[in-house]
Amino acid sequence: MRRSYSTEETHLSTTRVTVWNEFRHEMNPDEEPAKIYPHGMHAVLAEFLGRNADMSVRTATLDEPEHGLTEDVLAQTDVLTWWGHLAHAEVSDEIVDRVQKRVLEGMGLVVLHSGHYSKIFKRMMGTTCDLRWREINEKERLFVIDPAHPITEGVPPWFELVHEEMYGERFDIPQPDELVFIGWFQGGDVFRSGCCWHRGRGKIFYFQPGHETYPIYYDPTIQRVITNGVRWAAPRDTTVVSFGNAPALEKI
Ligand code: ZN
Repeated sequence: MRRSYSTEETHLSTTRVTVWNEFRHEMNPDEEPAKIYPHGMHAVLAEFLGRNADMSVRTATLDEPEHGLTEDVLAQTDVLTWWGHLAHAEVSDEIVDRVQKRVLEGMGLVVLHSGHYSKIFKRMMGTTCDLRWREINEKERLFVIDPAHPITEGVPPWFELVHEEMYGERFDIPQPDELVFIGWFQGGDVFRSGCCWHRGRGKIFYFQPGHETYPIYYDPTIQRVITNGVRWAAPRDTTVVSFGNAPALEKI
């Protein structure tokens, strides 16, 4: 039976979320990331996502066997969220192939902050995904650019983060299919902070906030955006197509 698009019905079905985290910054108890995220930022992301009745959430980290992303786990994942920074190179190409295949099959991918430079994001984009950055405790103001987009549900027209690492243009990505947020930084730079793409049957949302030395993922508006991003990226029961040699649809 085809699923209807009513919000109510969508929210009744459960979205299986896997929160992936590199989990290296939080390992040193004397440093800021561990003080902010004593159980890792994946624990905080999983906690607030798990408060939603329409989501079941698991976590996976780099140092688990197969980075916690076995064939089984990915087969049971509707949306994968990704945070990485120090150890992008340690993610095995075999797992990147596996995640890419699942995205093309319809799994949603939500890439956070420094995940812009992850192997999987670069693979899905096909560009360098490089950007300009600095870390001087400046304010960021994010503006909703597409107020009709489901990712902005319940989000104010603009909101601020007291301190965030600056990510600035140019951001070397392909033109987003949907541009949802633009961020402005106190030092004068701007950035496409919330971008959406479609790849195969899958949907990808990139969201810039989330530097590890600031408590960004405790912010209720940020939590709202990520929750909405997961819901938007979740697969729907849409048309299944076939490829290859095809019989004529009309008599020739
Ligand atoms: Zn950062």
